[in-house]
Amino acid sequence: MALNLPQISLSVSIRNSLLTSVFLLLAILAGVSVLATMRLSALQDAVESINRDRVPKIQALGDLNVSIAHAHLVAIRAALSTAPDPRAEAEGELRRRIVEVQAKLARFQETIGSDAPMKMAFDQLINKWDLYLKQQAVVLEPEVGASRNRLEHEVNVQTPPIFQAVVDAVEHAIKLADHRADSAIQDATLDAQLFRWVLWSVNGVSVMIGLATLFFVIHDVSMPIFRITRSMEAIAKGELQTEIPYADHTNELGLMARALAVFRASLVENERLNAATRTLSELSEWLQSAKSESELYQMISKVLGGLMPECTGTLYIYADSRDVLEVAAEWNGEARTRFLHPDDCWSLRRGHVYIHGTNEVEFRCDHVHDGADENYCCIPILAHGETVGLLHVEYNFKGEETAAQAKARFADRARLGLACAEHLSIAIANMKLREGLRDQSLRDALTGLNNRRCLIETARRELLRASRNGTPVSLVTLDIDHFKSFNDNHGHEAGDTVLRHVGEILKAGFTDGDLPCRLGGEEFVVLLPNCTIDEAALRAEELRARVEALNISYGDGMLPRVTVSVGVAAYPEAGIDLPEILRVADGALYRAKHRGRNRVELANGGMVPPIDEMTNRAVATLDAIVARAESGAPTPGNQEDDQRVA
Ligand code: GH3
Ligand code: MG
Ligand code: MG
Repeated sequence: MALNLPQISLSVSIRNSLLTSVFLLLAILAGVSVLATMRLSALQDAVESINRDRVPKIQALGDLNVSIAHAHLVAIRAALSTAPDPRAEAEGELRRRIVEVQAKLARFQETIGSDAPMKMAFDQLINKWDLYLKQQAVVLEPEVGASRNRLEHEVNVQTPPIFQAVVDAVEHAIKLADHRADSAIQDATLDAQLFRWVLWSVNGVSVMIGLATLFFVIHDVSMPIFRITRSMEAIAKGELQTEIPYADHTNELGLMARALAVFRASLVENERLNAATRTLSELSEWLQSAKSESELYQMISKVLGGLMPECTGTLYIYADSRDVLEVAAEWNGEARTRFLHPDDCWSLRRGHVYIHGTNEVEFRCDHVHDGADENYCCIPILAHGETVGLLHVEYNFKGEETAAQAKARFADRARLGLACAEHLSIAIANMKLREGLRDQSLRDALTGLNNRRCLIETARRELLRASRNGTPVSLVTLDIDHFKSFNDNHGHEAGDTVLRHVGEILKAGFTDGDLPCRLGGEEFVVLLPNCTIDEAALRAEELRARVEALNISYGDGMLPRVTVSVGVAAYPEAGIDLPEILRVADGALYRAKHRGRNRVELANGGMVPPIDEMTNRAVATLDAIVARAESGAPTPGNQEDDQRVA
């Protein structure tokens, strides 16, 4: 699996997000700090300016108010003093008070500055005060003091409203100063409230940015890393089916997930290879224990079918003729061809493995037809340095695979095929060796018939089965008549030729279950399971007749005819084991010799007379053998001879 670098880097996006959040938060905090400092100093300034502005005014107005009140009291006292001294004293006091009031008015005027409304209020106060002074001047006139009524009128009626106007003007100025301070405080309070809202909003935005960053970190970073890590742990524990999340993402998480998937794929592949190696070693063990070629080939098709489920495979083995290979085993589908000529396969022609589908220049083998998947391999199977067969493996392309994946997988299967081929070679070589040795130990080399050892083993088995099933087993013994003098007259070679021909007759005359053997020399035995003595006698007579009818050409001429004497015995009458039955059959055989040879004698003393019909059948069979021999078809055992069955 290829690892593609991501288009969008997670680290970049995390860094960008975090940096943006941090910058935003810092900017907001800095802005808020500056704003807060500015607003606080503005508020402080406002309060200070209110205090600076209001307190001196209020103090000045308060002092003024008190001084006016004192002046008014002194004025009344002066007006009401009739005696000259107290009056002069009161008037002096009044003048001082008036000067004091004038001074306080001047002090108050200093506090006004550029305050226009307060200036107006001050002007009104000055007007009222001037009116009051004028009224006091009237009250203090001597003619007014002289008239009691007029004095009372001026003091009690005219002066109070004027004095009240002065007091009202002072109070107005006080109210004005208070009002201006109140509105400044109200403005500052509103500002503070607004500022508080701004601060809350900023705090809210900061919290939201923080939460969004936290959500991003948890959702897009922590959680994916946690899930991928958990998958990693599970895979490391060997749970290879574990799902790997985020593999389709284009950022580092996707990269991590895909890297993990590659790691898992390699683990799966390793696991599969380990399993294949285990299976191969088991296969080798099983193959070594196969007791026949057919069993061996069955095992091969079963194990290789399981080992390479996506491949169709065939094992071809050379036929005895060595001109063609035949299917010995096939798995996961039928072989493309049942027979394969060595020239049809590049691996057999070139003498080494041929893997098709992986090279620039390559040619398809003739035995692999068009339309087949191009990924296949042919591996010669060698046994003892000789090519004995061919392992052909074809990869079956699956729709969901890309061509590159199919090639990679096929290359792996081809390697596995090579490993298998080595095991197969060893197993087949061993099997052929074993079969050869077995053949040698159980077969007579001259006639190709079974030997005495084979007879002993088979008879033991068949007699056991007969005793279990209560079935008969017959034994026919044959001995060529006067064979010593035949050898003496025609030579040992000619004698061997006769022995081989008699062997052919024995092979042709009996079915699969029967066992014709050469005991040694010119003596033969046929074991007939499930055959009564009467049936065996008839078949023995048929055999005798065939041998008698045998014409053998040898050298430039023909050999004289030979005859056989035959003895027949049967289980259980003759005995329960082979030596006993053989002894009884031999007794019958000797009797046949004594009674003139070329005849069949039964163990129970009976004799089988020659039957025409039987003879005719024997002759017909013989004719068939002759016809086959004349047509040139090879028959085992006579290939080296130039004799023909006439
Ligand atoms: P009878 O009719 O009584 O059986 O006489 P016979 O001559 O056949 O019997 P005998 O037992 O005296 O001779 C057996 C002969 O078989 C001796 C030997 O030359 C011959 N013989 C044994 N084995 C072979 C063999 O492998 N090849 C050949 N050519 N001859 C063999
Ligand atoms: Mg003999
Ligand atoms: Mg003999």
